[in-house]
Amino acid sequence: MFLKSIEVRGFKSFADKTELEFTKGVTAVIGPNGSGKSNISDAVRWVLGEQSVKSLRGAKMQDVIFAGTQFRKPVGLAQVSLILDNSDNKLQIDYSQVKITRRLYRSGESEYLINNTKCRLKDVQELFMDTGIGKEGYSIIGQGKIDAILSGHNEDRRQLLEEAAGIVKYKTRKKEAERRLNNTEENLVRINDLLSTYE
Ligand code: ATP
Repeated sequence: MFLKSIEVRGFKSFADKTELEFTKGVTAVIGPNGSGKSNISDAVRWVLGEQSVKSLRGAKMQDVIFAGTQFRKPVGLAQVSLILDNSDNKLQIDYSQVKITRRLYRSGESEYLINNTKCRLKDVQELFMDTGIGKEGYSIIGQGKIDAILSGHNEDRRQLLEEAAGIVKYKTRKKEAERRLNNTEENLVRINDLLSTYE
């Protein structure tokens, strides 16, 4: 799997539709301070489902929408798409190219799409689980992240190792199954209570 390109529109400093293409090997993004380099990695994390406004360096989620400048009006929609080459089938989906899109309107309404079909955030998260790219992924190492990993809690380090080991998907499914089992047990207790009142 490999990141082919990213399309950004109305996201942070990218008012117009901007497409960045990546080739195999190392890509370096260079530019003056404040020109928008970090906004590119913010866009990658955002489209993958980042929910932490703080880590996107804002106060509220709508702060990712282009806020306008002295010469340009603000826009009403932020949209980011990642285009990934999946010819090695690392992502468990039957497409050799996968496009993930996230949209956010100023009203707060938001959408996720996989290959132009609307989906839930959960679907995007599940697609990237155990690939190293998801929420607990290690493919984006921000400033200070290495220090945070080395000096952080054992539990945080364990999450990273579990993602690398490819067991996050199974742990998540186990949790979901346990939650359903608990709900069913509670329902059974309630039904038995009701039955005993009729006896
Ligand atoms: P440095 O080298 O200093 O780390 P950088 O190139 O990484 O800088 P970024 O932090 O990516 O720069 O971009 C900061 C710029 O993005 C600022 O000029 C800021 O005004 C602009 N910016 C951030 N959010 C928005 C927004 N919602 N609307 C318009 N511009 C924005």
